[in-house]
Amino acid sequence: MIYKRSSALFAEAQKVIPGGVNSPVRAFKSVGGDPIFVKEAKGAYLYDEDGNQLIDYINSWGPMILGHAHEPVVNAVVEKAKKGTSFGMPTEIETEIASLAVSMVPNIDKIRFVNSGTEACMSAVRLARGYTGKEKIIKFAGCYHGHSDSFLIQAGSGAVTFGSPNSPGVTEGTAKDTLLAIYNDLDNVKEIVDVNKGKIACIIIEPVAGNMGCIPPKEGFLEGLRQICDDNDILLIFDEVMTGFRLAAGGAQELLNIDADIVTFGKVIGGGLPVGAFAARNEIMNHLAPLGPVYQAGTLSGNPLAMSAGLAMLTELNSNPEIFLSLAEKTAYLHQGISEALGKHKVTHTINRVGSMISVHFSETPVTDFSSAADGNNDTFKKFFHGMLDNGIYIAPSAFETWFITEALSYDDLDKTIAVVEKVAATL
Ligand SMILES: *Cc1c(COP(=O)(O)O)cnc(C)c1O
Repeated sequence: MIYKRSSALFAEAQKVIPGGVNSPVRAFKSVGGDPIFVKEAKGAYLYDEDGNQLIDYINSWGPMILGHAHEPVVNAVVEKAKKGTSFGMPTEIETEIASLAVSMVPNIDKIRFVNSGTEACMSAVRLARGYTGKEKIIKFAGCYHGHSDSFLIQAGSGAVTFGSPNSPGVTEGTAKDTLLAIYNDLDNVKEIVDVNKGKIACIIIEPVAGNMGCIPPKEGFLEGLRQICDDNDILLIFDEVMTGFRLAAGGAQELLNIDADIVTFGKVIGGGLPVGAFAARNEIMNHLAPLGPVYQAGTLSGNPLAMSAGLAMLTELNSNPEIFLSLAEKTAYLHQGISEALGKHKVTHTINRVGSMISVHFSETPVTDFSSAADGNNDTFKKFFHGMLDNGIYIAPSAFETWFITEALSYDDLDKTIAVVEKVAATL
């Protein structure tokens, strides 16, 4: 395929935008080459600035679960825009989407809308600290909760010691309150909790990890975390920015049948507009301003355009719960096809899948945490990525990303994708 115009646009962008992109992973840094500039998208397909059609497995990193430019969502936004785009005053649609979300998600009474997943997670942790009166948090290596300071912490010298910041600009003072644990390792969490008795406000986790590829929780792991939290007055935060309204109408809480204390949302809940949210039971949510002392605010929070897109999206998911089954079936079909195609050419691989999240790891061993995800062969991934792209299939430009299946994908699209995998596998 030809990407002349994309490359020219990228050169222009780099003059005025750092790295030419407004979010780093878009820049293709880990796979090499220039990023593709999108002109438009419809259903399962992207159309780039050079006129290429690509089957999209990123779907805006999750939100477009029903496909691009989905008509009910687009119509809702267009109609809303004609009536004014922001007021900074309450509107009825905020209550409509809040009521719907609360009815779909287990174990929440109230929800507050913000503008991104980052904001949702940042606010959820502040609320947990304000509610418990404790300062430290536990997060898991390889889990992503947005780019606020407390979360940009990498494993230092052993998970029990304080984390060290993995971005300049994050202070040691902030880093020392973030404790790092190993995903799927309950003993490790117990050890950290014991060493920090009485100091931990919350454990935040992606209940199904999606930011180190897709990594399912081992049997009993989340139940174990729930128990540790109950025994130690720690709040359990499920970051469902990726899994919420994707794995089931009620997200991972519903699919895995575990209640978290605070849940965060993003991606699907905004229908493709900038939206995040966090939610909990009354006793926790009532600590938020203006009811309680924990401050949190936003000029554009609950923005009418964003709410109309989110409401159209959630309404459709709520009234057609069979969508989640259909998505899981498509994903299982893809899983089997890819596995056979790679197997035919003896390409070493591990595929992880939960619902409509799937990732292909070029790794011999099971991928269960950050270090086993990092063991995958990145050179093979790079070749695979570019091979797929050259044949019209767009997957995330990083081995640490999940593929997001959209309901707009047809079985023809999946067969075409599997055929490309087989063609590319022959070159790996
Ligand atoms: C995408 C993501 C975020 C961050 O959301 P933004 O809208 O990019 O700020 C947080 N948590 C998880 C699990 C995510 O996948």
